[in-house]
Amino acid sequence: MIHIGSFVNGKERKGNGRVQQEVRNPYDNTLVGVVDFATLEDLEIAIENAYDTFEHVMKKMPAHQRSAILRKSADLLEARSEDFAQLLCQEAGKPIRDARGEVSRAVQVLRFASEEAKRNDGELIKMDAAIGGEERIGLVKRKPIGVIAAITPFNFPLNLVLHKLAPAVAAGCTVVLKPAEKTPLSAMKLVQLMTEAGLPSGAINVVNGLGAALVPPLVEHRYIKKVTFTGSGTVGFKIQEMARHKKITLELGANSPNIVFPDANLEIAVAGLVKGGFVFAGQACISVQRIYVHRDIYSAFVDAFVSAVQSLNVGDPALETTDVGPLITLEAACRAEAWIQEAVAQGARLLTGGQRQGTLLQPTVLTNVTPEMKVVCEEVFAPIVTILPFETEEEVIAAVNDSPYGLQAGVFTSDINRAFHLFETLEMGGVWINETSTVRHDHYPYGGVKQSGIGLEGVAYAIKEMTEPKFLGIRLV
Ligand code: NAD
Repeated sequence: MIHIGSFVNGKERKGNGRVQQEVRNPYDNTLVGVVDFATLEDLEIAIENAYDTFEHVMKKMPAHQRSAILRKSADLLEARSEDFAQLLCQEAGKPIRDARGEVSRAVQVLRFASEEAKRNDGELIKMDAAIGGEERIGLVKRKPIGVIAAITPFNFPLNLVLHKLAPAVAAGCTVVLKPAEKTPLSAMKLVQLMTEAGLPSGAINVVNGLGAALVPPLVEHRYIKKVTFTGSGTVGFKIQEMARHKKITLELGANSPNIVFPDANLEIAVAGLVKGGFVFAGQACISVQRIYVHRDIYSAFVDAFVSAVQSLNVGDPALETTDVGPLITLEAACRAEAWIQEAVAQGARLLTGGQRQGTLLQPTVLTNVTPEMKVVCEEVFAPIVTILPFETEEEVIAAVNDSPYGLQAGVFTSDINRAFHLFETLEMGGVWINETSTVRHDHYPYGGVKQSGIGLEGVAYAIKEMTEPKFLGIRLV
């Protein structure tokens, strides 16, 4: 059994009567670990250490050294992949094959950051483009912003933490991280691994505890220069208010749409959409939630989709054969079940799924849904997919855009003109053609529009948000 506290200036702070919380496997409720919550004093010390380490160590550390620490971290993580995957499987209930996938992406994030740490961090300005700018040299250098507050969700406890830590180290910043209280174990193990790889004490500090207690004093602290948050909009927009006058990145939720046109390769579309709707029991911000299918292929699509969903293995996330594991808490599973029942009471047809046993919810497919139903217009964050028929391109674009969210969309078509038209008109941070909304690689710009977020992640883009441009002008005399 793992027992952690907080990690401040390279040392763990725990015990001494601190409030404890258990971390239990969401599948069978076995005890995985115990966490001692940080006190407000721990938090203050963590922020002060992050500040001192930024001023005296990280902002002066040469790029080759930051790059080497990140590279060594990647190598260590790769060597210990299976340990991390097992821990993710236990603390988040993530099916073991998906947990391995998360670790291998995390290794890539560290490698991207190691490479980005060495890239150009500025530009030369063509000064004589301005009248009166002749005989001047202008340059811009990007400087690390300082101490960053990072707050992360439960669903990718390793990779989404790294999407904040790795760019911060590459940029020369320091961090105080507040991981999700439901899944704090792998973040702690990761930061200890990075310390072993040579990261100076105090460069990344971890404070564990409840968001409502730790996040306001963290975000509002005078030493915090930037806040980067991944999680729900409800919490994200509160944090935006707390972070007044500070730079902020918000990576929030969505009700991701996917569109299947009659000229699509149906086999590829069905296979991708089944995976994209039910991987990690639909607990991804870009999970396939609304599938719009052209009327000409609607019945064929629905038959193939439902039969593929019924062949998914639901159960113990530790088994190699499991496709769909539990939801993170009983409360989350009951909430999702209630949304299904509400939709059915409002006239939706339940084609498969709907039953819940504890935290396990059977993969669910609903048709005959309307735009006002919660399962369509809100973020389900559960193994629930809705299928809606459409006739014209204009109609489906309007339906997709009729949402407060806009993170990623998937479009299945073999018509290049249509693909570009959809790319131009869908109100999204990203559009995939012949892939689902759930696909993400860790180096491209990733972030939502509308209520899905503010700012970008994707290693190089996150680094940009963690640095500030500073101009130098020289008059030649
Ligand atoms: P959450 O918003 O409940 O929690 C996220 C973090 O906020 C946690 O660390 C939590 O402790 C903290 N928090 C919770 N309540 C708080 C409060 N009152 N004040 C301050 N902090 C508080 O999110 P979650 O349930 O862990 O994760 C699921 C959500 O995250 C979904 O909405 C999902 O779409 C979103 N998400 C978005 C992305 C993205 O990249 N856009 C990625 C993953 C998850």
